[in-house]
Order: sequence, then structure tokens, then C-alpha cells
Amino acid sequence: MTFSSLGLAEPLLRAVADKGYSVPSPIQEKAIPVVLSGHDLMAAAQTGTGKTAGFTLPLLHRLAEGKPARPNHVRTLILTPTRELAAQVGESVSDYGRYLNLRSTVVFGGVKINPQMMALRKGVDVLVATPGRLLDLYGQNAIKFDHLECLVLDEADRMLDMGFIHDIRRILKVLPAKRQNLLFSATFSDEIRRLAGGILQNPQSVTATPPNSTAPTVEQWMHPVDKSRKPALLSHLIRSEQWGQVLVFTRTKHGANRLAEKLGKDGILSMAIHGNKSQGARTRALAGFKAGEVQVLVATDIAARGLDIDQLPHVVNFDLPNVAEDYVHRIGRTGRAGATGKAISLVCADEVKELIAVERLIQRKLERQLVDTFEPSQALPDKPLKAPAKPSRPKKNHRHDSRTPRAGETPREGNRASKPGNRSSKPVKRVSQPAKAPQGAAPKPAGSKISLGLGRSGRRSSRQSGGGSL
Ligand code: AMP
Repeated sequence: MTFSSLGLAEPLLRAVADKGYSVPSPIQEKAIPVVLSGHDLMAAAQTGTGKTAGFTLPLLHRLAEGKPARPNHVRTLILTPTRELAAQVGESVSDYGRYLNLRSTVVFGGVKINPQMMALRKGVDVLVATPGRLLDLYGQNAIKFDHLECLVLDEADRMLDMGFIHDIRRILKVLPAKRQNLLFSATFSDEIRRLAGGILQNPQSVTATPPNSTAPTVEQWMHPVDKSRKPALLSHLIRSEQWGQVLVFTRTKHGANRLAEKLGKDGILSMAIHGNKSQGARTRALAGFKAGEVQVLVATDIAARGLDIDQLPHVVNFDLPNVAEDYVHRIGRTGRAGATGKAISLVCADEVKELIAVERLIQRKLERQLVDTFEPSQALPDKPLKAPAKPSRPKKNHRHDSRTPRAGETPREGNRASKPGNRSSKPVKRVSQPAKAPQGAAPKPAGSKISLGLGRSGRRSSRQSGGGSL
């Protein structure tokens, strides 16, 4: 299968060749013909599968065949849960559409609204938006949807998790009934199916990867450790194992801040990225990480959601996620496109429930590796315990503030009582401390490539908050 045999127009084939893609990914093979045919689509695909090109390429093909957008009108609306993902998708739209005469723009909260209103004035063929800012712009008569041809909901599961359902409903009310609808989601819960049922008409379903699977190229293990010693263990591992570029996940924004600070005190250059940070601070952190100036990026799940990170060598779960599926998303940041990666979890006795949920989901046991001098005082169970019938999802973050969407809204860390499992405490493997840990930041490994909503040259797209011709 080639991109050309999928029937895509020549300018799109050229753009794909520029990107260096040789063959379509599985989701692209399946989704592109459906979108080209004008059908509604329900796709199970997560970040890293090539889903963005899966919907963007055929949409651009169809848009190029029709009439250009009228002033203030939008022909295709792509909704994303986070600003980072919006910027990332907008960048892909610009890249894939570079040889077409179409206009696109990206709008999200946290930045000035006026340039966005200006960009919409001439009309755009593709608008990538987060829900809150889109509603603000609609409320100010900056957008008209009368000629909307297609609606895309990207990462619909995350939109529901972030409490965007009411905004989505309000948006749906102002869209014309006759349109194509595409819905992408990493998981298909009953809630997502209900949402899809109200939006999609006779959709065709495609799946990129078996749900909840992890890439075989990712080596996964865990270090049992006491909660209070996690920061010290992380510093130790980064130093002694010479990890050059590490994405670390914490459950809470405060946890992310605290950890970045602590690592900084240990002489490891770190930055935190979450919803309380300004857009500028987030962009700087990402750019620094990309350039190898920041060795450790500490992120909350939602803030990390839109990051397109290729061949990242190490992902660390400083805390296990509340929702087991997030473990799969997190470690999907490494081991992409056949590259090998390592996913390491630091697990304390408080997290037995989360550990069991993860192990049941991925259907394997994480190897326990004890690190010398970091052995926990409370042992973790070695055998999986009986898991709850269904992994519980966290409470939704219903927003009561302005409609500006906030990325990085994570469930707060609960005050869970410490319930150490004590069925078996046999360590599976012991990691010895090296004779002497090397000092200072470890070098960036060669060949790691990160693109984080930045252009191929590393510049930030001028279209991220303004308009532009594709
Ligand atoms: P996505 O899942 O859309 O976030 O894409 C993940 C990464 O895969 C991005 O860096 C894309 O540039 C890359 N990608 C998309 N399609 C292909 C392809 N057919 N071949 C190689 N890389 C691709």
C-alpha cells in the first residue's frame, strides 16, 4: 500500500514525501479511504499511530476539490482537548497542505483573541480549535458555520475527561446538520459511544492497534520504593544510568513543580509542564527539552497529551496514573516507530491498587527491580491481587471558570490510606548501585528526535495563533 494508491492528490503526495513517510501507517490505510468517500468515521487510535495524517490528508484532498471558504466561514472544524494538541494538529495541517491553496488557522485560549479574530476574517478552510475559545469567538460573531463541511473530534475521550461535554454540545447546536463527522479516541468507553451515537451517522469503524496494547519495543519495569524516597531515587537513576532525555509523569501539577525543583537542586536541569503554566512557559519548556537543554521534562497527563515526541528513550512514571489507560498513553511516548524505549515506574506501597489495574490492563506483570539502598520499608505484592471489577475513572473536571480551556487539569492526588500489599515481598531483581555515579547532566543520546508543535526547522509556527495560507 502506498499513499498514491490511496488516491490522494499529487500536492499531498509531494508533502508526504517531504515529510519522509514511505508507507501509510495502519490507521492511515484504514481511515483515508473512509474519509475520502465522505462517510462518517469512528476511529480507535492514539497519539503515535499517525492518526493526524489519517484524517488531515483526506480532508485536505476533499477541501481542495471544493469552493474556498467565504469571509468568516469555516469549512472544516477540528476540535482538540488541549492547546498543545491544537498547535500540533495545526502544524500538521500546514505541513501536509503546503502545496495546496487552502487557508488554515489554530485558535486556543491563553493567548490574545484579537489576532485570532483577524485570522478568521477572510474565512478558513481548516480551523483547529479548543472548545472554550471556539465558543468565545463564535459568541463574538467571528466565525460562521453555515458552510461547514466536516467536524473532527480529536482525542474525544480526553475531551470528556476534561469536562468539555457541555461545550461540545453547545458547539454541535450551532453546526449545520448536514456534514461529515470524524471521531478519534484512544479508548471507547460507554460514554464515548453515547457521544458518538449522537454525532455520527452510519459511521464506519476503524482501529489502529488493539486497545490497551503497549509496543513490544518498550522495555517496562518498576522500582519498588518508599514514597518519600522517590525524588532521590529518580535523581540517582538519571545520574547513574546516564539518562539523557527523560519525560517524567506526575499525577498532580504541584507534584510536577515540586519534583522539577528537587531535581534542579540535585543539579539536573528540569522543567515542569502543566495547565497552571502560561502558554509561553510551556512553549519554552518544550523547546528547551527539544533542544536538549532541559534534560528532564516533568508533565501531568493532560499537559503531555498533545506532545508529539518521537524516539524518546526514557519515560518515567513518578506516580502511577489514577486511570490505568493513561499508563499506556504515557509509555506510548517511547519506543515509537520500532525504536526501543524504556518505561520505568517508581511504585510505593500506596499505589498497589493502581499497579494492579495497570498490570491487568496490559496483561503482564511489571518486573520488580530493587535498587540498592532504596529498598522500600513496605513491600509491594509480587503477585497480582484480585482487581476491582472495573478500573475506576477519576471524577470529571467540570470547569466553573471562564470558557477558556485549561490544559493540564488532572485529577488531584487523593488522600488514599496506605495499604501496603504484604502477600509476597520477594524481589525479582536487584539493581546494584554503581561504584560512583557520574556528575552533572548526562549527554543527550544521538538520534533522539522530538517535535513538539514546532516546525521542522524548530521554529514556532506563525499560524498557531494567527492565520496563514497553507
Ligand atoms: P500522530 O499519531 O498523528 O500524532 O503521529 C505521530 C508521528 O508519526 C508524527 O511525528 C508523524 O509525523 C509521524 N507519522 C505520521 N504518519 C507517518 C507515516 N506514514 N510514516 C512515518 N511517520 C509518520
